[in-house]
Amino acid sequence: MSERTKIVLKSGKDQSLRRFHPWVFSGAIKKIHGPEREGDVVDIYDNKDEFLAMGHYQQGSIAVRVLSFKQVDIDQDFWDNRILRAWKLREKLGVVDSQETNVFRWVNAEGDGMPGLIVDYYAGAAVVQMHSIGMFKSLESIKASLLKVAGDRIHTIYNKSQSTLPDKPGITDRSGFLFGDAVQGQVKENGFSFNVNWTEGQKTGFFIDQRENRRMLGSWSPGRKVLNMFGYTGGFSVYAMGGGAELVHTVDSSGKAIDLSRENVEMNFPGSSIHEAYAVDAFSYFREIKDQYDLIILDPPAFAKHQNVLNNALQGYKRLNQRAFEVIAPGGILFTFSCSQAVSKENFRKSVFVAAANARRNVRVLQQLSQPADHPISLYHLEGEYLKGLVLEVE
Ligand code: SAH
Repeated sequence: MSERTKIVLKSGKDQSLRRFHPWVFSGAIKKIHGPEREGDVVDIYDNKDEFLAMGHYQQGSIAVRVLSFKQVDIDQDFWDNRILRAWKLREKLGVVDSQETNVFRWVNAEGDGMPGLIVDYYAGAAVVQMHSIGMFKSLESIKASLLKVAGDRIHTIYNKSQSTLPDKPGITDRSGFLFGDAVQGQVKENGFSFNVNWTEGQKTGFFIDQRENRRMLGSWSPGRKVLNMFGYTGGFSVYAMGGGAELVHTVDSSGKAIDLSRENVEMNFPGSSIHEAYAVDAFSYFREIKDQYDLIILDPPAFAKHQNVLNNALQGYKRLNQRAFEVIAPGGILFTFSCSQAVSKENFRKSVFVAAANARRNVRVLQQLSQPADHPISLYHLEGEYLKGLVLEVE
């Protein structure tokens, strides 16, 4: 019926697909019948010729990213339906057309049945980030679906895949405007305003995944002296001020981020003098302070992008958290995060535990944090749970 390339798996290697895990590793493949074109849709069968799934083929460790466990046509209707379904979830979450929040993740890869595709929505601008050649080849259809589903809310679609698409021949135009031309815009999150520059900022411009954790930070802030370490454009700082902090200091090694954090604070609290921002390295800053802060946020960049650097990453989390435990005032609250996909919840907790013991502080876990519901996780792909956080009380 189809002329698609057919991939047959080795005996026993069909189990994870039968449990709806959305990846086929190259080592599981017994034979490929048909052309091996990167980014094409292929069918996957077990070695008894039973159909299992279909998805985007790519040469590499993950050979197929599954789009469907049923035989369907991957046509414009397919993309329209998937993208509409993702939009409807965000409608249910109350972030579409809300006065309070108009920034959200619209498509979260495996969590929305579209492995290799991220779309973040910034008040009418959709920022697309592709991680696979299959998604790159589907871009025209994806763009058409985005415009169809969100209608005239959309003024700009920007492709920001410079650093996320694999280095393969035939991939051109990794970044650029697909529709409209706005480079930045103002968004609202839980009633606070932020300027976001999606063309120049980190990731797609803003760390949308911290929305609920920032809100919780606000509730811990009254009367506290807050250090927002790895503060980027001041997200946590604005919430700390909104929550009634006594003072708030933002630290980030990027001078540009620090300038933006000042702008965002000024936009929400014009004329306030309780915020200072410093462009310095985290470890240098920790060497200069002692007992100054009783609420510290540690939200470092991903230390481990791959499994093989896991041990270094765990050492990094340990050293960093130890510094925070050494300087936080008695009775202080530490919000500590890891956004490394390769670091499990358990491993992260263990690193924080060793850090606390080394600093000889008595510590209690008050809350465990994760990513918000617009970053859904497929139950069959728990690797998608990348953001882990702990709220700790330090005696
Ligand atoms: N908490 C932020 C996101 C943090 S992203 C938010 O809610 O928006 C991580 C940040 O760490 C980046 O802005 C990066 O510039 C900064 N960074 C990376 N290495 C650093 C270092 N050694 N010292 C201080 N900041 C660093």
